[in-house]
Amino acid sequence: MRRKLAAGNWKMNGLGDALVELRTLADAPAPNETDILICPPATLLSRAADAVRHSAVALGGQDCHANGSGAHTGEISAEMLRDAGASAVILGHSERREDHDEHDEDVRAKARAAWAAGLTAIVCMGESLAQREADNTLDIIGGQLAGSIPDNATGENLVVAYEPIWAIGTGRVPTIAQIGEVHDFIRARLERRFGPGVGRSVRLLYGGSVKPENASEIFSVPNVDGALVGGASLKSADFRAIIDAL
Ligand code: 13P
Repeated sequence: MRRKLAAGNWKMNGLGDALVELRTLADAPAPNETDILICPPATLLSRAADAVRHSAVALGGQDCHANGSGAHTGEISAEMLRDAGASAVILGHSERREDHDEHDEDVRAKARAAWAAGLTAIVCMGESLAQREADNTLDIIGGQLAGSIPDNATGENLVVAYEPIWAIGTGRVPTIAQIGEVHDFIRARLERRFGPGVGRSVRLLYGGSVKPENASEIFSVPNVDGALVGGASLKSADFRAIIDAL
């Protein structure tokens, strides 16, 4: 049985005063069946680790470098994230793929680095509106799945997040049927590549305009094991409502 996962991606938001939201989240009683993860900006990780200590809230990074260390000015390694208090890292988010020209092979190398540092890799994928309208969604997702995930995936070291680019920050959400089709496809591909045991144990998150109002409906879709939430993860009350919908 896969545990549910509510993951918040704060993106480039949050100064020290945002830790109040994290403390509020950490102080509330946690549901037994759901894992809670917040990925704040890297500058907040150590302080966030203090804020959530002894709580059910885990922390993650939003990206890491593929190398363990070295002359890479401005970059952050997976081991540094781990050292600062992270247990997971988001990789291959469409904003990184677009803004930083990241390709599947970059994401794959970063996932290997994450695993070497003992972090769970949350590998993101999703189609653009043009790709969906051209009926290419499953081809795109299939390619990203094959290219972005290294061998040796397990249910512990990998989470896959399906985030249609056109749904991120837009308030536009795919239909339940559209989400279900992609999640079933991802599940089948994972089972084919990694075997049924591993394939069935990897958690699949939906991301893109998840809000308290639409969370229950999205979570009713088979093979949706949780959400990767952007905007609505910034306020603890909204995020808590999404957690409760799981
Ligand atoms: P929104 O929830 O703000 O649409 O962002 C989704 C996302 O990109 C999470 O990684």
